[in-house]
Amino acid sequence: MFDKLVLASNNAGKLKEFSALLAPLGVEVIPQGQLNVPECPEPHYTFLENALEKARHASRMTGLPALADDSGICVEALAGAPGVRSARFAGDPKSDERNNALLVEKLQGKASRRAWYTCVLVLVRHADDPQPIVADGVWYGEVASTPSGSGGFGYDPYFYLPSHGCTVADLPAEEKNRISHRGQAMQALLAKLKAQA
Ligand code: IMP
Repeated sequence: MFDKLVLASNNAGKLKEFSALLAPLGVEVIPQGQLNVPECPEPHYTFLENALEKARHASRMTGLPALADDSGICVEALAGAPGVRSARFAGDPKSDERNNALLVEKLQGKASRRAWYTCVLVLVRHADDPQPIVADGVWYGEVASTPSGSGGFGYDPYFYLPSHGCTVADLPAEEKNRISHRGQAMQALLAKLKAQA
């Protein structure tokens, strides 16, 4: 198949999760920052288009197969926002703290606090790959009004799981990886790769 892969992300939280999630693949995974790949614009309205753009960009710049993740939190009472704008919900520069504060503010007085994390993974074997491998995952929860926990990243301290009675930031990293949107998408991607091997 291939023995090296560039990971098209500079997000420290994602990179940490991917190092565990990609272990079963048995290939050398190089974060794009190590190869001086600059951040790719994400101008699209869908996670799928942005993930494809990021994967192609990293592959074109490095000549390597590339895996990209586009992910975020969608909130029912906000018609699916922040969605693809999750990383910059409160504007530039990116700030998890300001994003979370804005989310809590926007949900004040709303009847529904239902939300879901979504993750789309795209793997291209080369920049012009006509048949990228695509997998996705969705993880349901609720937006809490106060934070809890010190694990994870991004919206995790506010993403409450009724099934577990805690936030994602309260979960051990292994448990998050096992059940998260990213974990689900990675399991699906690995299954597709295995089927093609
Ligand atoms: P992207 O780099 O455009 O895909 O940005 C994804 C953004 O969505 C991150 O910066 C986080 O704000 C949020 N996000 C995605 N996955 C997670 C997660 O697992 N936990 C918490 N926040 C996440």
